[in-house]
Amino acid sequence: MSEITSPNATRDTVILGSGCAGLTAAIYAARANLKPLVLEGHEPGGQLSITTLVENFPGWPEGVQGPELIENMKQQAIRFGAELKMAHLVSVDLGKHPYELNLGPGKDPIRTRTLVIASGASARWLGLPSEQALIGHGVSSCATCDGFFASGKQIAVIGGGDSAMEEALFLTRFATKVTLINRSERFRASRIMLDRAIAHPAIQFLSSTVVEEVLGVEDKEVRGLKLRDTISGERSELPVSFLFLGIGHVPNAKMFHGQLDLDPDGYILTHGNVFPSHNGQPVPGVFACGDIQDRRYRQAVTAAGTGCMAALEVEKFLEEHGR
Ligand SMILES: Cc1cc2nc3c(=O)[nH]c(=O)nc-3n(C[C@H](O)[C@H](O)[C@H](O)COP(=O)(O)OP(=O)(O)OC[C@H]3O[C@@H](n4cnc5c(N)ncnc54)[C@H](O)[C@@H]3O)c2cc1C
Repeated sequence: MSEITSPNATRDTVILGSGCAGLTAAIYAARANLKPLVLEGHEPGGQLSITTLVENFPGWPEGVQGPELIENMKQQAIRFGAELKMAHLVSVDLGKHPYELNLGPGKDPIRTRTLVIASGASARWLGLPSEQALIGHGVSSCATCDGFFASGKQIAVIGGGDSAMEEALFLTRFATKVTLINRSERFRASRIMLDRAIAHPAIQFLSSTVVEEVLGVEDKEVRGLKLRDTISGERSELPVSFLFLGIGHVPNAKMFHGQLDLDPDGYILTHGNVFPSHNGQPVPGVFACGDIQDRRYRQAVTAAGTGCMAALEVEKFLEEHGR
């Protein structure tokens, strides 16, 4: 369908993001002969590229390493004609169709009839070098994904809001003891969630406490946490084998502020799964899929599912507009 004869030709579709959602959209769009261009962004392969074993993606009875799963998806998309480009969308004017994607100073803009937004939501981390070194080796930001690996272990959860409480309660199914660590004195979770966590015998609370280091980098597995009491300044060590971050996510939707309807935390609001809006009105040829529009499930398989839906909508849109 698409004839990309020169680099400046208008594309039928550009996919923003190379995580599970973007790559699934690319597989479907490529098989429909739309020659999709995937902008890989700053995190090629998305969140799964920084994790280790994925045990809940259907079709892998023994589990699969996150980077391997992503590499397979990439190869599958390329096999059908998808083009992948190491580039990051800086801005776009969704008021002007075809859309012109600005990739930053000195880079040629890209014009496209449709845009699939699959830019994900990045987990908030503490930013400690030891924490970053142990992601996938006992440090995780996804209790649903990695809770099972914490079976029979003593673990810690960072955070004081509802999502930290929810994670801590969920993780008591696996862990023998869960320590909830909160930087400030007060937990800002709702009363009901806090009461549930307080009532649970396997959950203990540490407030006014920060993590200074995750121990175990040399062994490539979490051995404990170096803590500091923010009031007394006292330092201590907590022996845990798993650390979960429950301090939220940042949706990568900055470039759509004022152009698409977002929820209060910055996730793209979609209708019928993949249709974003602006002031409640549909935005022609723009579709959003994966974690960028899903604050609830945030799973590889749900991201892939909506990626598929977005690509099918791209096909339908182009067909309806005479392509
Ligand atoms: C440590 C960890 C472990 C996990 N384990 C599991 C698991 O076991 N099972 C499971 O189902 N899920 C797991 N998840 C969740 C899963 O990884 C996500 O649900 C899934 O990756 C979401 O896919 P996505 O494509 O929507 O977004 P992401 O994977 O976040 O990909 C977003 C993509 O968008 C790109 N991007 C962002 N901004 C721009 C821009 N401006 N221009 C161009 N590109 C951009 C990024 O570079 C990236 O390629 C885990 C997550 C983490 C963090």
